[in-house]
Amino acid sequence: MLTGAIFLHDAFTYTDKHIDGVPVAPLALHPERGGPKNLPVVKSYLSDLEDSEQSELCEKPHLVIVGGGWGAIGVINTLKTGDYHVTVVSPETYTTFTPLLPSEMYDLCQEDIMNYYPKMCRQDVSITVIQSREHILNTYSEAISQYAEKKFMHDGVGLITNARVAAVTPTSVIYTKKGADGKPESHEIPTNFVLWSTGIAMNPFVARVSSLLPNQVHRKAIEVDAHLRVKGAPMGEVYAIGDASTIETSIVSHLLDLVDESDKNKDGKIDFEEWEDMVQKIKKRIPMSEEHLSRVRELFDLYDSDADNSLNLNELAVLLQEIGHKITALPATAQVAAQQGKYLGRKLSKVARQRSVLAANGLTTEAGVDEAVSSPFRYLHLGSLAYIGNAAVFDLGKYSFMGGLAAMYAWRSVYWSEQVSSRTRALLMIDWIVRGVWGRDLSRL
Ligand SMILES: Cc1cc2nc3c(=O)[nH]c(=O)nc-3n(C[C@H](O)[C@H](O)[C@H](O)COP(=O)(O)OP(=O)(O)OC[C@H]3O[C@@H](n4cnc5c(N)ncnc54)[C@H](O)[C@@H]3O)c2cc1C
Repeated sequence: MLTGAIFLHDAFTYTDKHIDGVPVAPLALHPERGGPKNLPVVKSYLSDLEDSEQSELCEKPHLVIVGGGWGAIGVINTLKTGDYHVTVVSPETYTTFTPLLPSEMYDLCQEDIMNYYPKMCRQDVSITVIQSREHILNTYSEAISQYAEKKFMHDGVGLITNARVAAVTPTSVIYTKKGADGKPESHEIPTNFVLWSTGIAMNPFVARVSSLLPNQVHRKAIEVDAHLRVKGAPMGEVYAIGDASTIETSIVSHLLDLVDESDKNKDGKIDFEEWEDMVQKIKKRIPMSEEHLSRVRELFDLYDSDADNSLNLNELAVLLQEIGHKITALPATAQVAAQQGKYLGRKLSKVARQRSVLAANGLTTEAGVDEAVSSPFRYLHLGSLAYIGNAAVFDLGKYSFMGGLAAMYAWRSVYWSEQVSSRTRALLMIDWIVRGVWGRDLSRL
């Protein structure tokens, strides 16, 4: 019966679309040219006039999303359909999951390649992880770190800690590690495949955006304010989220504005009452500073070097600079990118719904629409999890949980629920079933 229903459904999917007489936007066929290189500028699509739904959509504000990763998917999934004319520009049509790859490679060798090339696998294949710190997974709890290290040792994955890679050649990796006498010694491991996963750098597009804008001095990412607006770009028109961005942590750059807003008696100094007001304003501008500003009185007294019961500009500058240095930037993880994406999607939907009311109140994008519809972005750390080769570890702050297959299934269920659509959920499930029954696909190795 089920097979019959599948065949019946399948038979109805082979239909010819009637395309005669469907209008085509002339600008899509002959786009205007512009920019320094006089290239065609895409303003219309072939489908823009296809039907009434499309024509209505192309009247909507145009939202261009560059990239199709965790952050972008967060935005797309949260936006209300029809609020924006959305274009996604991305080299891939899928989102890549990037779990702890050495574990996955170990499983591939043990579970699949071993069946076909047992001799080669036993004698010639080895996997080594080089880590500059004392432990792997060093941002997780110590118990988890030790568990992962024992698991790697048990699986025969070589682990070299406290070592720094000095060079990667076509056939080897050269690293240095302190010897027994404390002096650095050089070592070499022969390699066929090297996976470099030590942190992020700007990709060419991000580097170019950053270089073209004023106020962008961060070396690794585009700096955004607490509302995720790109600093130096027209307010409320360009946002950056995820790995490509970093939220500003410098409070001292807002010093003059803060003094202007909080110095009520305009004496050029900040007394304690004004300082309390300033703290609220700082927390609003840079929510990540919150935990460092909890001891309001203590801070005031500590930085009031001349003990005149007020903070002058110099004292304030030192205070704000030191607080800024204590703020840690958010980590470049999928969790941060996804939360930022969802935050931005919700905000853009609100802007779309309230556009006429905002305009009636004289609020344009330049004049703080973001502040009117939403509070600044706040990251909520829900815990960390990692797959470590047919086992998984969970670090949920107060609790941590690690184990074999049961934990791995828990890890899989989280990844499965984080998929972008029912289609990708089905594809992933089919992939796991295929792996379980027939093993991984080795045809492209
Ligand atoms: C090996 C590895 C393991 C990781 N493990 C974990 C983990 O276990 N847990 C975790 O939370 N995070 C993990 N991360 C980090 C996580 O993958 C990233 O933080 C997350 O993907 C960031 O999301 P994003 O949307 O900012 O960027 P991405 O997901 O990287 O998406 C960026 C998108 O932009 C596209 N793009 C790039 N340049 C252009 C361009 N010029 N034009 C158009 N499109 C472009 C890319 O093709 C891609 O689709 C890992 C990362 C790596 C590399």
